[in-house]
Amino acid sequence: MTHPLAEAGRSVSASRSLDALKGVGPKLAGRLAKLGLRTVEDLLFHLPLRWQDRTQVVPISELTIGEPAVIEAEVLGMETVGRTRQSFLVRVGDGSGTLVLRFFHFGASLQAAMARGARLRLFGEVRSGPTGPEIIHPEHRPADAPADDEATLTPVYPSTEGLHQLALRKITAEALRLLDAVPDLLPAAIAREHGFPDLHAALRLLHRPPPGVELEALALGTHPAQQRLAFEELIAHQLALRELRQRLQRLQAPKLAAGALRARWLAALPFALTGAQQRALADIDADLQGSRPMLRLVQGDVGCGKTVVAAAAALSAVEAGMQAAVMAPTELLAEQHLRNFTQWLEPLGVRVEWLVGRLKGRGREAALAAIADGSAQVVVGTHALFQEGVNFARLALVIIDEQHRFGVHQRLQLRDKGREAGRDGSRCPHQMVMTATPIPRTLAMSAYADLDTTVIDELPPGRTPVTTVAVPEARRAEVLERVRAACRGGRQAYWVCTLVEESETLDAQAATDIAAALMQQLPELRIGLVHGRLRGVDKEAVMARFKAGELDLLVATTVIEVGVDVPNASLMIIENAERLGLAQLHQLRGRVGRGAAASSCVLMYHPPLSEQGRARLGVLRETSDGFVIARRDLELRGPGEVLGTRQTGTLALRIADLLRDEPLLPAVQRAADRLLVEHPNAAAALARRWTGERERYGEV
Ligand code: ADP
Ligand code: MG
Repeated sequence: MTHPLAEAGRSVSASRSLDALKGVGPKLAGRLAKLGLRTVEDLLFHLPLRWQDRTQVVPISELTIGEPAVIEAEVLGMETVGRTRQSFLVRVGDGSGTLVLRFFHFGASLQAAMARGARLRLFGEVRSGPTGPEIIHPEHRPADAPADDEATLTPVYPSTEGLHQLALRKITAEALRLLDAVPDLLPAAIAREHGFPDLHAALRLLHRPPPGVELEALALGTHPAQQRLAFEELIAHQLALRELRQRLQRLQAPKLAAGALRARWLAALPFALTGAQQRALADIDADLQGSRPMLRLVQGDVGCGKTVVAAAAALSAVEAGMQAAVMAPTELLAEQHLRNFTQWLEPLGVRVEWLVGRLKGRGREAALAAIADGSAQVVVGTHALFQEGVNFARLALVIIDEQHRFGVHQRLQLRDKGREAGRDGSRCPHQMVMTATPIPRTLAMSAYADLDTTVIDELPPGRTPVTTVAVPEARRAEVLERVRAACRGGRQAYWVCTLVEESETLDAQAATDIAAALMQQLPELRIGLVHGRLRGVDKEAVMARFKAGELDLLVATTVIEVGVDVPNASLMIIENAERLGLAQLHQLRGRVGRGAAASSCVLMYHPPLSEQGRARLGVLRETSDGFVIARRDLELRGPGEVLGTRQTGTLALRIADLLRDEPLLPAVQRAADRLLVEHPNAAAALARRWTGERERYGEV
């Protein structure tokens, strides 16, 4: 069978560097490089953001204010107006009406081009001027000059400083001449199955759409030409993640089996595992008993009991005489885990150690020593766990909690660290990632193709649903009364102050001010305050008092978002709720409804709400199902944000959109399978084309 890749040898010209193109000198090449464009092929995959229709000449009498248009008209007259800042006005007419061209910068050559009687072809956005329609600084040329930008729609490319659209148009036109040299890597049979055009047709269409093309589909990204490329990109993404997974699975991992210790622990727990927890644990056990590293994502709604499952897994490592590391995204959550793990495991004689960034001096040395000699059997901490100088003696399992806080990039990095952490380079610890932001299965298979997934789809019994209301800031007094009433009735409440800026200091300040005001307004309540600037011990002391019921109201920044567990707390107030994302609000709300009392959550907002803000608060009022919320979050914010890929740029999709293109995903999986078996070379080339060197796959 001959596959297009067999002809790739002839594609030298497409992989040629851009300065081989006519009109590309070192300066332009430098600017293109800023956009990541180095080869002719790169440029051909640099697709327009949008398109302008310059194919239709519009009579002046039919112009629409606010819209760009092409006009053919004759210069009727001109004048220079203004004293200090002069402008040059040219009146043109086409028989149907007249129009003013306004120039703030002008020189002799412009004035020459605008000679009375000259026939011009003009393009620009039409505005309403003092004497009728006008265009400021239109693009212009003599009407009879040849131009190639009018046979097709005009592309507008993503650009960078000093790189003009005209230059991009010119060089993409050059590059398009070499299009045939770009190998079409998707087998024709697969493209045909979906009614996709071939690669060359797709690229040609997107760079230079013919007049009459479905502009609306283009704008939405649903045109078959775009869908074909999105399909390719998703396959590439899928292949790259699978490759990553395969590399890891070539490594050896210690076989871990649960034994008597865990059985004893489970029997001593004050509750029985839910069916969903048992199923998750069975998945994990099966992985741990193999000699390949486990790579498993455990998804489960807030409060479903992931920590217990994590502890059970950690015990398997301990029973095998090895170590487990538990990493949380914040110190507060790490502290919470430490408390749980210590309480659960120390009675069994398991040594639980603790390592966070602020642990310094002797405490740190002792922790490092215990980690290095293996006497620390379970180590709980933050990122600090995987920093320089931390050497595990026998790390067998890495557990990462609250994955939604970490981007894909960090996940890869952690995995590296995890591997380094095992002393022997070919040995890789098992890895388990827990997230409370569940994402739909098809999306998970794409975004986390490097992981197996398990879903905990059941909450422990006895949870009470949380009633959620949205209240404008103006009704603060009522909210205060609610807090007073709840606390008088023996319940406890949270008052969450949300991020003012991306600054922990300002945030802490705002929380401090609010706490002070609340102490005045609710003098009979015992009020505590936690925020990110408090020292760990102080934070912990406040949390402990709240947990012990010595405080009625806890004022906090979003540091309490994850993990905090106080069943008697039944009321949560969230200030400026409109500023937070859905997932975050859902997390916060998950702090209440953990006991038997009916719980509620008050989302305070500053009117007017944006449409998005309204939608977000509405979703929370309507549902407490983490899966529904996650899906709506995806729709409102887009997968880049939700899956944490936007910040790092890694794995950012160029054309595909996981949500819009979700219907393609099952076919993407199948095509990826098929490519790997039937066309492994094309598969590799495709992954390289779309994910390229920007990714770190090769090194992981
Ligand atoms: P999350 O999945 O949000 O991390 P946690 O592990 O913090 O949830 O569990 C939330 C609370 O539920 C904790 O107090 C935990 O002890 C309790 N819990 C966990 N599993 C069960 C169970 N099977 N039955 C009753 N309570 C449970
Ligand atoms: Mg948790």
